[in-house]
Amino acid sequence: MSEPLNRLLVIDDQPDLCEFIAEVAIHVGYEVRAVTDAAAFRRTFEEFRPTIIVLDLQMPEADGVELLRFLAEHGSRAHVLVASGMDSRILQTAEQVGRLRGLNMLGALRKPILLADLEARLRSVLSSEPQIEADEIERAIRAAQFVVHYQPKAVRKARGMWVIEGVEALTRWRHPDLGPVSPARFIPLAERYGLISRLTDYVLEAAFRQAREWDTLGLTLSTAINLSPQLINDLTFPDRVARLAADMGVDAHRIIFEITESAAMADPATSMDVLTRLRVKNFGLSIDDFGTGYSSLKQLYLMPFSELKIDNSFVLDLSDNDDARVMVETMVLLAHKLHLTVCAEGVETQAALDFLDDCGCDRAQGYLIGRPMPGEAIPECMRTWNAAQGDER
Ligand code: C2E
Ligand code: MG
Ligand code: MG
Repeated sequence: MSEPLNRLLVIDDQPDLCEFIAEVAIHVGYEVRAVTDAAAFRRTFEEFRPTIIVLDLQMPEADGVELLRFLAEHGSRAHVLVASGMDSRILQTAEQVGRLRGLNMLGALRKPILLADLEARLRSVLSSEPQIEADEIERAIRAAQFVVHYQPKAVRKARGMWVIEGVEALTRWRHPDLGPVSPARFIPLAERYGLISRLTDYVLEAAFRQAREWDTLGLTLSTAINLSPQLINDLTFPDRVARLAADMGVDAHRIIFEITESAAMADPATSMDVLTRLRVKNFGLSIDDFGTGYSSLKQLYLMPFSELKIDNSFVLDLSDNDDARVMVETMVLLAHKLHLTVCAEGVETQAALDFLDDCGCDRAQGYLIGRPMPGEAIPECMRTWNAAQGDER
């Protein structure tokens, strides 16, 4: 953990501008590398692993858009600021290109760069969180520091009657020094360090084992498991997971993979191959966080999904936003027209559940029904909730 937390890499063919940006960044608290050509940029990027990159769009021997592509191909999670003296439309388009490629775009800087503006941008992403290294994640997998929690998913059986029949597996990390680390933090790191496949295998095994345990209690639950888009580029994944399920005695019909479409699905032919084979092997496929960023209509219509999962953000807004209600209603209708089931996540209130009921939404998940919890707590949660629904099982 000796590496500095905040590392800035700047590329600009004007050395004086590089120097200006470097000075401001050091003042704000960054360790800085400044380069003036693309070759040095590529080299430094790999050695230095910047947490933020300031990139000049127009340089004599390389253009910034090419470098954005380079960063995307290397799976960069660094914040990226594009700088240029060109008009703001071009800057905005370059920013959009980066975003579409899955980069973490922080914005655009118009030249001449204003000191206060630059300083504010750099401060906005300055981190005080300690860096987590690849070997820590590897050790954590080996030491079983990751635990899988389960959040109940209720199915609408009749008007006003929602019965828990499934769960979503959500991974938790209890770090020995840092305490609980959110998946929003460790999943991107595992992806970046090439460890997501191992972490997923670990989660799959835990979830399949848990499903078998519930079976022995007479509870047949479906389990949803989140898949990193990176795995959708792995042609060996469908066979691997099918074998694991068969070995552990879990029926593929009961497993649903939740996938957020992302720019990491770099090669649509491969993703489609993998997703189709998962469906052929009888696994369910859910498009997660639908309605946000990368989970788009295009994906919905190209890929063989069986469920649409309406993103939290719409459901959380149901009570005070008319537009959110229109969006949710429309997403339910769209899913049904495409013969998909639809699940709403982020259901925190009875009013939200009632609204979903009126829309004919098929499944619901959220704190109202149950928070993510250890597997052994699920049977009791089911009993209590289902009993109140008039389904005493
Ligand atoms: P997600 O798949 O969209 O999961 C739903 C997230 O919303 C979970 O956060 C859950 O705890 C939270 N949530 C559930 N109900 C409510 C509610 O009523 N209100 C609010 N405000 N939030 C609710 P969590 O567990 O922090 O997971 C965040 C994301 O991390 C997940 O989003 C998923 O994309 C990813 N993730 C978690 N575990 C894994 C994993 O094993 N593998 C992969 N690839 N990704 C994972
Ligand atoms: Mg999910
Ligand atoms: Mg989601």
